Amino acid sequence: MMIGGVRVALPCSCSCSCSGSPSKNRRYGTSRRSILKKSLSQEQVNFTSPLSEEPLVGVIGGGISGVLCALFLEKRGIRSTLFDTGIHGPGGRLGTRVVHPDPLKFDHAAQFFTVSDSRFAEIVNAWMEKGLVRRWQGTVGELHSGGRFLPSPHPPKFVATNGMRFLPHSLLSQTRMVNVVRPCWISKLEPFNGMWHLSENGKPRGVFDAIVIAHNGKCANRLLMASGLPLIARQMKRLDLSSIWALLAAFEDPLPFPGITEVPFEGAFVRGVDSLSWMANNTKKLLISQTGGPHCWTFLSTAAYGKQNKVPQENIPSSTAAKVKAGMLEGVESALGLSKGSLPKPFYTRLQLWGAALPTNTPGVPCIFDPSGRAGICGDWLLGSNIEAAVLSGIALANHIADYFQSPGADPGEFAVGLYHEFQPLEGHDIGQFPGLGTEKKMSEGQAYELAN
Ligand SMILES: Cc1cc2nc3c(=O)[nH]c(=O)nc-3n(C[C@H](O)[C@H](O)[C@H](O)COP(=O)(O)OP(=O)(O)OC[C@H]3O[C@@H](n4cnc5c(N)ncnc54)[C@H](O)[C@@H]3O)c2cc1C
Repeated sequence: MMIGGVRVALPCSCSCSCSGSPSKNRRYGTSRRSILKKSLSQEQVNFTSPLSEEPLVGVIGGGISGVLCALFLEKRGIRSTLFDTGIHGPGGRLGTRVVHPDPLKFDHAAQFFTVSDSRFAEIVNAWMEKGLVRRWQGTVGELHSGGRFLPSPHPPKFVATNGMRFLPHSLLSQTRMVNVVRPCWISKLEPFNGMWHLSENGKPRGVFDAIVIAHNGKCANRLLMASGLPLIARQMKRLDLSSIWALLAAFEDPLPFPGITEVPFEGAFVRGVDSLSWMANNTKKLLISQTGGPHCWTFLSTAAYGKQNKVPQENIPSSTAAKVKAGMLEGVESALGLSKGSLPKPFYTRLQLWGAALPTNTPGVPCIFDPSGRAGICGDWLLGSNIEAAVLSGIALANHIADYFQSPGADPGEFAVGLYHEFQPLEGHDIGQFPGLGTEKKMSEGQAYELAN
């Protein structure tokens, strides 16, 4: 959709990363306070009947945490159905936009990842062997306002070979026991006769022994509001999320840099500019064999700028879209130290608001599981704010559910986890945590893997 001359993406009305239909969500008409009240006053469901002979898990959310959860359930011999709203593919905040016919290619949320944990390192090695990810060899560093660039060669940085979205897509194409249903926006969870009945706007979507909530934000709060899972709903409600604007821009020529013909980096954390926290040349990052133009750049705002200019992401006023686009391009100019008005004009732009971009607090527990309701949560926010945290969380929940399924006769109470953990603020960059690249603390391996084994 064009707003004020800016191409604007309208992913969802619920300010999360889902692409559910705005009209569907609006039917709820619920305020934050009423969601909280309803969530907490609902009665706890208590499943006591035996599990099916071949239990089936419903995974709601096909971001990287939901995908890893489904894959690790399969490793333990458990079937699942994974539901995702993505129209172009699963992946959630691992988003890649391809614009034909050129093609222009942009990662429009997650940009790259680092590895701080030995078990994640093993997974990344396996992905590298399959050619799904590779080392990002381009120069990345910090760009201080005025055009002062400091490279950060360590730690190693990784990208998905064809763009972030294609990583979950490729992983799911190799499964035998995961049924992917997409695009599908699960709008209701109903416990009945010891099973979970899932539906999409009245259309039945299956019956499951256990469910995994692999998404967050308002969408998850609404889904959990009347589900019979008050403890899970309460933890979800405690999560706070930032907002980030993404401006995708394609230029005919390389971006200029004072004193040299071309910017001396492929990606940079921007310092000292209100509107900008990150910029990356996605053509160089993703289309490495391409020489010459066009040059596709992803610019991401600071969380503070996202907050200042927060609007409903499904209904961005044209004046806000124009102001944000101008503000971010001015930010690029001043970050690069260019004189006012000298930044070349992009021939393509697209603006998107990630209304529920990154978690700003965490319970610091790999996953949450309610054995009475046979329901769990996974996602980045349980451990941090990056791809690594999301992967670890998905794996932890899969292993936990498998242990629960495979321990008949055990006291279900022993499997309760994370239902009462207090939340702590999260440190990191505005676009997530990159251990070794900033001030954030390394995730404790003990904490991350308490449940993974
Ligand atoms: C702008 C931005 C930049 C980032 N940069 C980086 C980075 O450079 N490096 C890094 O490591 N991390 C980065 N991150 C964070 C990273 O993207 C996330 O940590 C990670 O992708 C989270 O994965 P997830 O599976 O937990 O959640 P999500 O990716 O949010 O997945 C949730 C999925 O659930 C789906 N869904 C929601 N509701 C429903 C429903 N009712 N029914 C069915 N499906 C539903 C959504 O469509 C979505 O696909 C960035 C995030 C943003 C927003």
